[in-house]
Amino acid sequence: MKRILVTGGSGFLGSHLCEKLLDMGNDVLSIDNYFTGRKENIAHLIENSYFEAMRHDVTFPLYVEVDEIYNLACPASPVHYQFDPVQTTKTSVHGAINMLGLAKRLKAKVLQASTSEVYGDPHEHPQSEGYWGHVNPVGIRSCYDEGKRCAETLFFDYYRQHKLGIKVARIFNTYGPRMHPNDGRVVSNLIIQAIQNKPITIYGDGAQTRSFCYVDDLIEALIRLMNSPDDLTGPVNLGNPAETSILELAQTIIDLTGSSSSLVYRELPSDDPRKRCPDISLAKEKLGWEPMVPLKEGLTKTIEYFEVLLKKGEHPA
Ligand code: NAD
Ligand code: UDP
Repeated sequence: MKRILVTGGSGFLGSHLCEKLLDMGNDVLSIDNYFTGRKENIAHLIENSYFEAMRHDVTFPLYVEVDEIYNLACPASPVHYQFDPVQTTKTSVHGAINMLGLAKRLKAKVLQASTSEVYGDPHEHPQSEGYWGHVNPVGIRSCYDEGKRCAETLFFDYYRQHKLGIKVARIFNTYGPRMHPNDGRVVSNLIIQAIQNKPITIYGDGAQTRSFCYVDDLIEALIRLMNSPDDLTGPVNLGNPAETSILELAQTIIDLTGSSSSLVYRELPSDDPRKRCPDISLAKEKLGWEPMVPLKEGLTKTIEYFEVLLKKGEHPA
């Protein structure tokens, strides 16, 4: 049995990861400051005697004994990470330093949840790991993008300088049950608007693209990466290469919900990437992984989740 630390364990991805790691017979410690995480996400795990949830902020040092660390703590939606941008950078940078320091003392493997945002508004399409990105260092997304880029730097310096076992995953847009209903991300926003027959907000002209990966596929990839041979440090792109425009996504959600919503167009936020699609050749080759869940199937499960949440009144009408 491995003792595994998951930072950000009560968040969207973190809670699914904790659940899967417990199912695989591990002893799991979740730490979270509950900024965007919800206790409801891990309520069903609390009875498991091999699960422990601790309130802790990763910007402060942590002293625990574990064999592996998955570092997921960081708000992921633009609305949430722009709410307190200084804290966002601190979470990525100080959080990485603290988790790398912990891993160094314990000689533990540590995985960083990095992001496709390190590519910024990309000039290479699809994005492969060798592309260095096109990132505004002083814009409203920079606290997240540059924080995550600096965290990657720290991971590779600990690897070179201290021979630490590292894994860096560049995660592309992932969706599914337990996304925060108020996080403002496109999938949660559009599904909630469609269920409520309210206008569907399209930022810009809706021609911008994203590539959406269902959460179960992503969690499988993170665990495969952690358990891959030591020389596979990454960065490894993890995401679904099926590229969709925001308008296509909106139409699919309207069809799946049978909604009578109309579309309303809003200003495109600054530095919003025009396109994003992962080249996942490396993950396919080294992890034997590729996404299995098609968009419509994943959206159907996510819609069911939000329908239940809205019936319980957990989102303002
Ligand atoms: P989320 O907001 O649901 O989860 C983040 C968790 O981290 C929350 O539980 C939050 O309370 C916690 N947290 C934030 N700051 C913290 C701090 N200082 N100390 C301790 N806990 C803190 O987001 P998510 O979608 O689950 O994302 C998880 C990770 O994956 C993030 O690092 C994110 O950058 C990365 N990621 C996610 C996506 C995606 O599409 N979901 C894409 C790329 C990268
Ligand atoms: N978006 C939109 N309507 C919304 C929310 C988001 O059109 O209600 C757009 C947003 O401008 C971006 C894309 O959807 O182009 C994905 O946004 P999200 O916040 O989910 O993630 P991002 O990939 O931009 O970090």
